[in-house]
Parts: sequence; structure tokens; C-alpha cells
Amino acid sequence: MLVASVLGVRQFPSASADETYDAVIANGRVVDPESGLDSVRTVAIRDGKIAAISSAPLTGTATIDARGLVVAPGFIDLHEHGQDPRNYQFQARDGVTTSLELEAGTDDVEKWYALREGKSLINFGVSIGHIPVRMKVLGDPKGGLLPTGEAAHRPATAEELTKLSQEIDRGFRQGALAEGMGVNYTPGATHWEIVEMFKVAAKYGASVHVHLRYGGLKEPNTGLAALEEVLAAAAATGAPLHVVHITSMGLKYTPELIAMIEGAQHHGLDVTTECYPYTAGSTALQSAIFDPGWQENMGITFKDIQWAATGERLTADTFEKYRKQGGIVVIHSIPEEAARAAVSNPIVMIASDGMPITGPKVHPRGQATFSRVLGHYVREEKALDLMTALRKMTLMPAQRLEKRAPVFKNKGRIQVGVDADITIFDPARIIDKATYDDPLQPSEGISFVLVHGVLVVKDGQLVQGVFPGRATRAPISQ
Ligand SMILES: [Zn+2]
Repeated sequence: MLVASVLGVRQFPSASADETYDAVIANGRVVDPESGLDSVRTVAIRDGKIAAISSAPLTGTATIDARGLVVAPGFIDLHEHGQDPRNYQFQARDGVTTSLELEAGTDDVEKWYALREGKSLINFGVSIGHIPVRMKVLGDPKGGLLPTGEAAHRPATAEELTKLSQEIDRGFRQGALAEGMGVNYTPGATHWEIVEMFKVAAKYGASVHVHLRYGGLKEPNTGLAALEEVLAAAAATGAPLHVVHITSMGLKYTPELIAMIEGAQHHGLDVTTECYPYTAGSTALQSAIFDPGWQENMGITFKDIQWAATGERLTADTFEKYRKQGGIVVIHSIPEEAARAAVSNPIVMIASDGMPITGPKVHPRGQATFSRVLGHYVREEKALDLMTALRKMTLMPAQRLEKRAPVFKNKGRIQVGVDADITIFDPARIIDKATYDDPLQPSEGISFVLVHGVLVVKDGQLVQGVFPGRATRAPISQ
């Protein structure tokens, strides 16, 4: 024991056939992307943690028969705007055990966590968000997720810039996991404001999750130019950078954006990225993304935009009408080759960018991203292998956050001692069922999902009345 400790070997109680665990998951194909384990094992759970992994039989008060099924770490979604009970139900059925809102974030970290504590099906977490903080400090019409007035279009004064930094700092002291930014939605923010916001994150070793300033095809407003801005901010301040939904920013230049990020990694910058497996984006029609010039920027026109409340494609007339009214649209702008390039690339994490359920035709990504990658891109298209796909949705997101929030050292893995957040699925059957026309359909082929050892999905169905989800939060320092 002493020798092992000195050598730095983690000590775990060895599995014993005499012990009775709270639950065992028997005979499944256990996949752990960190150790590379991909073999039939029995996993035992005690007190919400994985207590043993054995090739011999183990005994539990409850037994899950996982024969023929994959036993994987629960999926960690870095980017999910739908943070309500109904969204969590769809996410659990898509294999997600930890749902994080890190792009938009919140302006009140304390309140955000308090609202969900003890009431959540799955684990949850949030960033301190530059967008909502800017809406508060610069003043913006209330009620929306995104700014439409001064907070979108006006540069901050020197006093406001100080106030923005103070508010972001306060969010970190309250345990925000990261900093969120959406420069595309706040084009009034100067390049220097971006650097100032990165400086605060650097102080806490926290990653900045950025929706880039442009998602355009036309120089000088391309995704490449926008990526240069935040790579420079990361290099100049030392803050880790995470670029969200690389495909909707890069469009046909997605491979070039990924190559830039790969190059920056090779040269020592802490920068990562993510994608969702779809050829459409989604956002609010009243936001700055649809300021004049959007057709040329994104290479699309009215008919490529779908109104989420009804599913209708827009015209010049309905565009004007709905932009005044405000609401969510689905934007068919991403080439299939871009989606495939990102989904299959081993450095690009999977994250849904799921939307709150505001209408019958919301984007399907919040309900089905993970099963779509595993069913469509892994099994049907063979665009990537199972281990790589699971790594992109479990270990990599955990590693992105674990320096800032040590709770993630115990997630994204199937190892003795980690949290029993586990997703068990049939690799031959898993598939997304949510579509643009019928997006509120739960995924299929996910048999069991456990959060802290508690079943939230059993035999493919939601378990009612359980709330094992916990806050994932960085240390509080106020
Ligand atoms: Zn975004």
C-alpha cells in the first residue's frame, strides 16, 4: 500500500465476489476512452460511484443485464441552451448525464444553480455569460436570450468595460464553470473588449466558449478572420479557448477552421472546439446575425430559413414580420461535407447546442445529437469508430473543464472511483428519431441511463419522480 502510494498508483478496493453492491451492470461491453478498455466486464456501483469493474461475476441488490449492449460514460454536453425539466428528459433519452450551458451562460450564477438544485433529472452547469452581462450593463430590451438593442450594437464606454470585467469576475467567484461569449450577437464589442474579457477568464484558468464574431463566407467577415481574433486573445492573455459549433461558423471553410485549431494546439495553445451533427443552425431571428448583409455573409436566402413556431420557410415579407415579432428560426446553411468533416475529426468534440422547446418545430439537435452521431455517422456512414465517437462526447468535454472544476475528473470515464454517470445503449439499434419536421421525438436504442448511480432511463423509458442530477460547479471563492 505504502509503496504503491509512493509510486503514485491509485489504490482501489479490489472486487470481491462475497460483497453485495448497490447495483451491478452485468456482461456489457465496457468502453472507457481514457484507458482504452473495450471488453466485456461487470461494473459494480456503490453510493453513486463505480466501486468495481471485473471480468468475474459480481453481486448487486439490483442487476442490469447489459449483454449485447455498450456500457459507456454518460455523455457530457458542453453546449445546451435547453435547461428545463422537459429538455432534460429528451437529453437523458439521448444518453446525456451532464448538460451544460456554456455559450450564452447566465448573468447570475448563484441564482441559476439554486433554481435547479435538487430538482434535476441530470447534472447541470453554467458559465458566466458575456452576452447577458453586456445586456445588463449596457441596457437592452428585457426578455430575450439575445440582445437586440444597445448591448448588440454599441461599444462599451470605459466605465462599462470596467463593470463588465467586474461582473464576469463575480460569476467566476460564484463557481461558473467557464466564460461564455457570442461576439456575433454583440458586434458592438470592440476587439479590445474581447481581450479584456479573456483576461478575466485567464485569472481563473477558465476556458472561454466563443461563438465567433462572424460565420460568413465573404472576406473580410469570414469565420477564419473571426477565429484569428480569439486565437490572438487566447495567446495574448493565456485564457483557454473553446470555439463552439465550428460548422455553422466555418460553413464550407470548416476544414480550414479545424486546421487552424489543430495548428494552434500543436504550437502550444490551449484551444478546443465542438460541433453538432446537422446541416442547419438555429437562433433568434431578431438577433444581430440577421442584420443587413446576412444573405451574402451566409450564402443563403429567405427560403433557407424556417420559422420554428410553424415550420414554414420564410419569404421577404414574412422575414420582416417575424423579425419584428421575434422568435426562433432554423437556418439551413451548413454543407453536409462540413458536418461530416467536423463529426469525424478526432479533435472536434460533440455538443448539441440544443434550444429551449419554444415551438413544435424547434431544431432536433437538443433531442438527438448524440444518438445521431452514434447511429448515423458511426454505424450507418462509418465516418468514425465507436471509441473515437465516445471519446468526443465523454472524456474530451470532461478534460476541457477539469482544471477549472475538479468534479469533472470523476466524469467522462468508466473507472473505479468515478461518479456512476453511465449510458448503456445498443450499438446496432441506437438512432436519432427527432427530425426538422418532427423534432420532439426521443432517440431510440438507449436502454439504461444512470446519474450518480440512479436510473433515469430504464428499458428505454424515462423513470418518473427521480432527481439525481447535481450541480457541476467550480470552487466558490467569494
Ligand atoms: Zn451559438
